[in-house]
Amino acid sequence: MTTTTLHFTRPPTPHPETELWQVADVEALFALPFMELVFRAAEVHRQFFDPNKVQLSTLLSIKTGGCSEDCGYCPQSVHHDTAVADEPMLSCDEVVAKARQAKAAGAGRFCMGAAWRGPKDADLERTLAMIADVKALGLETCATFGLLADGQAERLKAAGLDYYNHNLDTAPDKYGDIISTRAYEDRLDTLGKVRAAGLNVCCGGIVGLDETRPDRAALICQLANLDPQPESVPINNLVKVDGTPLSDAEEIDWTEFVRAVAVARLTMPKSYIRLSAGRRAMPEAMQALCFLAGANSVFYGDKLLTTGNPDVTADRALMAKLDLQPL
Ligand code: SF4
Repeated sequence: MTTTTLHFTRPPTPHPETELWQVADVEALFALPFMELVFRAAEVHRQFFDPNKVQLSTLLSIKTGGCSEDCGYCPQSVHHDTAVADEPMLSCDEVVAKARQAKAAGAGRFCMGAAWRGPKDADLERTLAMIADVKALGLETCATFGLLADGQAERLKAAGLDYYNHNLDTAPDKYGDIISTRAYEDRLDTLGKVRAAGLNVCCGGIVGLDETRPDRAALICQLANLDPQPESVPINNLVKVDGTPLSDAEEIDWTEFVRAVAVARLTMPKSYIRLSAGRRAMPEAMQALCFLAGANSVFYGDKLLTTGNPDVTADRALMAKLDLQPL
């Protein structure tokens, strides 16, 4: 009888002295031959996760448009002239009804997004009952409400929030080209508050913002150097929306997106890497390659805040074809 020895690539490690990732090391991962990169990422993926399981999150905009920030990719900013109409905050009953539908469709986590620079205390107060009621349905809860003031993360946690999403978006040096109304440090400050309150961190970024590969490496380096690393890392491909400054951004090649997923998996081996915005435009074979390269979470449901997402029927069919099971 012959025995088979499985060979596993060790996850790459940060710099031995600083224990921090260096941008050059992350760039070197990006530069690996494509097949080698995907193979290594797939090996690392299965050391920490069942590669046949995918986490499903549904995202709902609970307050749309009218945001005072000027994020260059976002149709909800008051600085950009887009087709997105402002809408007041949904009622608690409306949010809970959507959460119930998401759970019935198979989602395990329900994410609530609000277009704010950060929540005023009165606004935050209104979200607390929503969080508690969604949690009571047996769903994991996530919120993305912008910058948090002192004490707000603790109130969210006490209401039953499991995750707080706050993306770093892009590389530190690129940030000023995309957003002028806040600084990178502001984002890091909120991430620190979220951690200090005992919440899980969901933090990722966007590719396709006319950034360079070194910018992409610098973004992933920042994410991988968060201590502890984020539990959830959304990797978004820019959805170009008319009226936003990035509506004519240059398309990145699909292989570069897969590389970003694989490098995120290699540098953050224990994090859920979420295939996020832009998935509707991705062919099924590309999505399958992303799952092979270590993506193990998706947004599930036909809308992402204000832009489109694959419908649930198409996602169920794709998961069946790939023998993927929801977590
Ligand atoms: S991404 Fe968020 S913070 Fe930026 S403009 Fe859009 S809603 Fe506002």
